[in-house]
Amino acid sequence: MSRKSADAIIIGGGIIGAATGYYLAKRGLKVFVLERKFPCAGSTGRCIGGIRAQFTHDLTIRVMLKSIKMFQELDEELETDVEWYAGGYLFLAFDESKANSFKQAIEIQRRYGLKVDFISPDECCQVVPGLNREGLLGGAWCPTDGQANPFKVTYGYLEGVKRFKGQVFVGAEVKKINLAGTRVVSVETANGDEFSAPVVVNAAGPWACEIGKLVGIDIPVKPDRHEALVTEAVERCLEPMLVDYRPDGCYFVQHYGTGHFIGCYTPVPIVPGDRVDASDEFITEMPRRMVRLLPKLASVKVLRQWAGSYEMSPDGNPICGKTSVEGFYVSAGMSGHGFMFGPALGDLMAELITTGKSSIDLAEFRLDRQWTKAEAMK
Ligand SMILES: Cc1cc2nc3c(=O)[nH]c(=O)nc-3n(C[C@H](O)[C@H](O)[C@H](O)COP(=O)(O)OP(=O)(O)OC[C@H]3O[C@@H](n4cnc5c(N)ncnc54)[C@H](O)[C@@H]3O)c2cc1C
Repeated sequence: MSRKSADAIIIGGGIIGAATGYYLAKRGLKVFVLERKFPCAGSTGRCIGGIRAQFTHDLTIRVMLKSIKMFQELDEELETDVEWYAGGYLFLAFDESKANSFKQAIEIQRRYGLKVDFISPDECCQVVPGLNREGLLGGAWCPTDGQANPFKVTYGYLEGVKRFKGQVFVGAEVKKINLAGTRVVSVETANGDEFSAPVVVNAAGPWACEIGKLVGIDIPVKPDRHEALVTEAVERCLEPMLVDYRPDGCYFVQHYGTGHFIGCYTPVPIVPGDRVDASDEFITEMPRRMVRLLPKLASVKVLRQWAGSYEMSPDGNPICGKTSVEGFYVSAGMSGHGFMFGPALGDLMAELITTGKSSIDLAEFRLDRQWTKAEAMK
């Protein structure tokens, strides 16, 4: 058993823990990141890398505008190529109600300066040559959205933590959190080590609820299973992330630089729990849905499939901020968008922890909110 002390302890070595740890360390705090398995072992290593500001919640749009600006500069910040590429996002509408909801969302997004338009089926086909336009009424198109590599970003942040004199502990499963009165003082891991700090951040993704229980706090994050696949690499023919919100729709993008298509869909009904087994249904359905949108993919072979968790909050928005336990913070419940939120929420949480407030007020994401402002573009 060993005892070590720091200024801040981060529980979880996914994108949220890595980015929060990095920006705290950059602000001069001695940071320990404790990860029970290895970096990206949770949802982050299973995500498809999409990054967008097309949301409906004002705060999410503002956070994502900040995040996208940070992604644009991340190679320099992290001293590594994170494979940021602004290929855009195209949300397709196949019925009037979806078209109208996209148009309403565009009005909100434009208030914050987002360059986004509702484009015609012809224009959609210009953005995506070969797109099947059967039943298509148009799409919400934002060319400044994009993609990056989740592994490179997360490992880049963790290397940065070390550059700023922090430490990353793998195989360090937090089992106990010790309080002195109402204040957090230390955490203990399964292998008997104790780490003390006046600040502890719960960045345990789909398992944030279990970490909350260690201090008697209810953090309403529930995981559900999402599956994904990657195809062989082929000549580049798709720029944006294509999003088809029909109940039997899907999302996919062609990775810049490698030429692989990577995509996923939200199952109906959802599959609750943190199971990550892959299903026959997905590997049969997903290629059919991709080929329906882009018939020229019919001859492209699937290489792998896998599953991971979306870590859902009750309203589909993040849970970020202080808790009733002094020094114990939460940044979780990313509801399937944690990779893209990572840079901005990492920086804003670090600002909140070190100064008591953040330059974008995160109050609407606080744990004790009413959960009434649901995100419509989930
Ligand atoms: C198929 C799929 C596609 C997705 N596509 C996108 C996308 O295109 N864009 C996007 O932005 N998001 C996407 N997401 C969502 C994204 O992956 C998550 O929102 C994000 O990775 C959450 O990051 P996190 O750091 O909160 O959680 P995680 O990455 O899960 O990290 C939490 C970490 O905490 C560790 N941990 C848990 N308990 C303990 C403990 N007791 N002690 C120590 N460590 C512990 C875990 O091992 C894990 O590594 C997708 C997800 C899936 C499954």
